[in-house]
Amino acid sequence: PWCFKKELENRVRRTIAREHMLYLEDKLAFALSGGKDSVVLVKVLYSIYGNLLEQQKRLGRPPVAITIDEGIEGYRAESLLISKRTCDELGLKHVIFSFKKEFGLSLDEMIEKVNREPDIFPHIKEKKAPGQLKNAWKIITKPCSICGVLRRKLLNDIAAGLNVTRLATGHNLNDEAETFLMNMFKGDIPKIGRTGSIQEVQNTYFVRKIKPLKDTTQKDIVLYLYYTNGRFQSNTCPHAASSPIFRGEIQEILNNLDDKHPGILYNISKFMKVVKPALSRESSLSSSVSKCKVCGAPKSKDMELCMTCYYVRNICGKDYKEVLDYYLRDLKD
Ligand code: SF4
Ligand code: ZN
Repeated sequence: PWCFKKELENRVRRTIAREHMLYLEDKLAFALSGGKDSVVLVKVLYSIYGNLLEQQKRLGRPPVAITIDEGIEGYRAESLLISKRTCDELGLKHVIFSFKKEFGLSLDEMIEKVNREPDIFPHIKEKKAPGQLKNAWKIITKPCSICGVLRRKLLNDIAAGLNVTRLATGHNLNDEAETFLMNMFKGDIPKIGRTGSIQEVQNTYFVRKIKPLKDTTQKDIVLYLYYTNGRFQSNTCPHAASSPIFRGEIQEILNNLDDKHPGILYNISKFMKVVKPALSRESSLSSSVSKCKVCGAPKSKDMELCMTCYYVRNICGKDYKEVLDYYLRDLKD
């Protein structure tokens, strides 16, 4: 077990060094959901960079963990507890953003409202042709669309509000390979390029994201937790059944292949490292961005607002920017 632990940590250290992910001058934030990936992320980083993180703290830039409490009954409570415990053990500052408290509605309540009041998104109906409408409507009202859009935006904006320079997420090698293959099978070449690290650095609106576990497999993450007596969430999200089916299918293919041909994930990873940078040039030429007039974030050209401001306004009747500013002011007091 000790060798395994060291080996995994060395792998993460190499990933961080190779991609210049973390320096003493940085202020680091962890996206901590309480799931196994994010818990291992925090544990491993404290194990290998404990001194550096301590020094950052002494220099007035303490690392912080950000947890988004969407309000999902029978699911979030356990992971919130694990998140809190993980932070307490390491003396890591922990901030929690609750949908219910700040937006007035939990995710469960938002979904209920969307189903009850289908006219809540009138703009989508006006804009799209009947054929397209069906699809846009279907996607926009999915629990995972609302949840994912709000969570990603909040993590970035809270991090930016706390002057964070690196936002670490728990994405592992399986996630990376799945996303890559999904985009490949869809023929979405610009998207493959956009997830390349060069592109991420260039974008000024977003806090730079780092994925220290991107070369570590899901299996190894579970083993690491097992050997370090870590607890992780046992139940799955009740809305997961409505999550994108395509990703699940790719997951299954990859798991089957990995069982029969161990090492296949690392080979995909090697391939991605060569292909992504080459494609990121192409995608930067093809994507033109416009800005949300409420929060300034990049948004689709067909919409007046970004999806976050749109959801918060239409479902909760609130102004996203106001909610965020209020929350950040409260944090700093
Ligand atoms: Fe959110 Fe969907 Fe994940 Fe549940 S499965 S936490 S609704 S993204
Ligand atoms: Zn916006």
